[in-house]
Formats: sequence, structure tokens, C-alpha cells
Amino acid sequence: MEIVFFILLVVAIIVTSAIVSGSEAALLSVSYTKAKEIARENPKDLKAISLLKIKDDLQKYIATIVVLNNIINIVGSIYVGVIGVQIFGEVYLGIVSAALTFLIIMFAEIIPKIFG
Ligand SMILES: [Mg+2]
Repeated sequence: MEIVFFILLVVAIIVTSAIVSGSEAALLSVSYTKAKEIARENPKDLKAISLLKIKDDLQKYIATIVVLNNIINIVGSIYVGVIGVQIFGEVYLGIVSAALTFLIIMFAEIIPKIFG
């Protein structure tokens, strides 16, 4: 049962961190001019208006995203380490840390940012 929780925790960290990182890359990849153009062409579209509002105050939103991404990655990893030691023993802390580091960099940072 503990192992199921462990796996779900790892998946939850990767998915939430990936969503946050993908959003960051997506927001940065749209130019302000393009966001303005989309909002002008779709004045009643809430998504278009929201995008322009975010681009208007981009620093604040990027800061929030970066803080959120780091909280998920750091606090999540510490929690995974603690649970991992309880399941596999202290000897495997290095392996759990290395595996999680690789998984987070690959699937919660690089790949979502490419798609974003
Ligand atoms: Mg991330």
C-alpha cells in the first residue's frame, strides 16, 4: 500500500510540475503584440482577454509560476525521499534521489517546456 502512495506521489509531482513549467514556457512564447492582436480579434473571448491581462503583468505571473514550480519540485522531492527511505531503507536514498532528479528534469521541466 505504501508503494502505491509512493508512486502516486511521484506521478503527482511530475504532472503538477509539468503543467506549471509548460504554462511558463507557453506564456513566454507568445509575444505581447500577438496577445494584443488575439484579444482585438476576439473581444468577447475570456481566454484571449485573460492572456492579454497576463501579458500586461507578465513579471508577476512568471514569479508566481517559478515559486510554485520550485515548491513542488523541492518540497515534493523531500517528501518522496522521506517516504522512499521508509519503504526501501536509507541505503537507497541516493538511488531514489538520482531517479527522481532525472524524472523531474526530463518529464517536469524539459519536455513540458518544449511543448509549451
Ligand atoms: Mg516544473
